[in-house]
Amino acid sequence: MAGVIRRLDEAVVNRIAAGEVIQRPANAIKEMIENCLDAKSTSIQVVVKDGGLKLIQVQDNGCGIRKEDLDIVCERFTTSKLQKFEDLASISTYGFRGEALASISHVAHVTVTTKTADAKCAYRATYSDGKIKAPPKPCAGNQGTQITVEDLFYNVNTRRKALKNPNEEYAKILEVVSRYAIHNSGISFSVKKQGDTVSDVRTLSNASTVDNIRSIFGNAVSRELIEVGYEDANLAFNLKGYITNANYSVKKCVFLLFINHRLVESAALRKAIETVYAAYLPKSTHPFLYLSLEIAPQNVDVNVHPTKHEVHFLHEDSILERVQQHVESKLLGSNSSRMYFTQTLLPGADCSSSEVVKSAANSSTVAKGTGDKVYAHQMVRTDSREQKLDAFLQPVNNPLSTGPTEGTTEDNAGPPEGAVRAQDAEMEDVSDLVEMADVQEDTAMPGGLSESGRLSPETVPPRKRPREDADIEMEKDDPRKDMTAACTPRRRIINLTSVLTLQEEISNQAHANLQEMLHDHSFVGCVSPQWALAQYQTKLYLLNTTKLSQELFYQILIYDFANFGVLRLSEPAPLYELSMLALEDPESGWTEEDGPKEGLAEYIVEFLKKKTEMLKDYFSLEIDENEDSDSASTTWKWTVEHVLYKAFRNHLLPPKHFTEDGNILQLANLPDLYKVFERC
Ligand code: ADP
Ligand code: MG
Repeated sequence: MAGVIRRLDEAVVNRIAAGEVIQRPANAIKEMIENCLDAKSTSIQVVVKDGGLKLIQVQDNGCGIRKEDLDIVCERFTTSKLQKFEDLASISTYGFRGEALASISHVAHVTVTTKTADAKCAYRATYSDGKIKAPPKPCAGNQGTQITVEDLFYNVNTRRKALKNPNEEYAKILEVVSRYAIHNSGISFSVKKQGDTVSDVRTLSNASTVDNIRSIFGNAVSRELIEVGYEDANLAFNLKGYITNANYSVKKCVFLLFINHRLVESAALRKAIETVYAAYLPKSTHPFLYLSLEIAPQNVDVNVHPTKHEVHFLHEDSILERVQQHVESKLLGSNSSRMYFTQTLLPGADCSSSEVVKSAANSSTVAKGTGDKVYAHQMVRTDSREQKLDAFLQPVNNPLSTGPTEGTTEDNAGPPEGAVRAQDAEMEDVSDLVEMADVQEDTAMPGGLSESGRLSPETVPPRKRPREDADIEMEKDDPRKDMTAACTPRRRIINLTSVLTLQEEISNQAHANLQEMLHDHSFVGCVSPQWALAQYQTKLYLLNTTKLSQELFYQILIYDFANFGVLRLSEPAPLYELSMLALEDPESGWTEEDGPKEGLAEYIVEFLKKKTEMLKDYFSLEIDENEDSDSASTTWKWTVEHVLYKAFRNHLLPPKHFTEDGNILQLANLPDLYKVFERC
């Protein structure tokens, strides 16, 4: 049987509507604080009882409410702030819809005591369901307004039951007030429980934003703050605020976000910023952020519902990207304390978490034979991603470098999507030389070296049938090989004596300890394009990236002879310039008698072109007449860490002479440093 449809009682309709605007005491307090701010108050005091459920009292020293307006102040859609619809676009006050006081009065008993500057005395009135109960009564009072809200939700059973934990509500109230206090330095705020003499949050009108952050969140946060400030005329927004540097991290992200001075939330912005921090903070820890965004009013919906805290705005993606860039530039530029350096090498040295001990103990290379206990001086950074040198270097020329920071996972061999990082102007972009692609084939590099991540050939197109030559033959089909193996191009076996001799020479020269060091190192950072720092066990090494990569490329050449995949250069190598470079190197043995270098270089280019077919067959070097280039956007630092040093791990047999010629230098050994400090 169909139910009878009846019109709801007006009071019930209002109560339901009010319940949507005011869901908990903290919502009511937020609305009331915004009214105080709209009234140009410089002092806002909040007193509550039972988490605001019994009593909320907000006292300000603002402009007050005129006696004539007191009759209708709690009615719906009565406001002193908006007259015409067009005013919406230019409104600079928090309130404009005249809904807050009305809503509160439908679910609580409201008393307003107020005095304007030119009134002789204050007036008091009480309200219920939007209506004034009796004419306003004159009384004593200072300029400003005090609004008392008693027995919130007295007539909404379900809501009252849902909010039965006053402590939780009080915590929420403290959160809201303290955020407004931080955002409104110059105005003093206080919150306390009724009957208490001390406030739980208290800021002074002459305190700065940082002072307020300190008094609310403590010294640990305030001393690690970096000021941010950014303005973008194109996107019509500006950003101000304070964020913590890489020294500071907590379990839960604290994010105070104001958009056009309203306390709001934006999951998208939070995520964007956390992505930036992920590269600088220890795993699963987070920063403190206070950001104030001002966006052109036409680009953000000001007509947000009072309970709609999650905001979206026009050009959101572009704005988020700019904010990310700015935050990252600030993080990179932040001057680090000495403390930080210690942490870089020894994450968690100052914290006693069992996790640290565990991860150090897991690393098979430490604490050998010392029993279970791992001492601080034996702790080793086991994850080079955690904190790197870059985090405390000044960006040199491009403070607004974009993008996710260093590659976030080590196994992710390709450049991160759309990443452009802080670059050094004078550095050449090594990365343009090599484009990464997936591993296509197993190789016969020394020492069983063919794990993932080698300098990898592009998907190898079916080879032109190789010359059938006694010295170079195809690997015989092995019926035991599985399908995957059968699908990869077969290796050609090299029997050329010259190549075999060179291979033997390399493996005879190999230095086992160095090889182990390279294999297990944690990358610390680039000192320059030529030098990099790496950590192995408790030792810090300085390595000559140039020499090591020269050796690596030479070894690849010898071991992969006639078996190269194709390394497609994003910009074709300029043969002439390369020939000139080679001739300028004293090792080329060029003398005056050989004639001008330019002529020789031209000859070399022609000669190489003539040998195109052989070069392609042996070295997969393709010489191309027409040039087209689209340069990759990775920086040399990324390439050094994720391409070169990654390749060194598994593919380099470091020759003994590296230990003697200064190309690999041990700079420090942690236990020795401890001895030094003990003497101090
Ligand atoms: P809105 O803020 O959207 O105008 P409210 O319901 O929050 O609507 O407030 C209604 C009106 O009451 C305001 O427009 C303002 O004139 C007056 N008012 C409320 N609180 C204060 C206050 N603390 N000081 C001065 N005026 C106030
Ligand atoms: Mg208001």
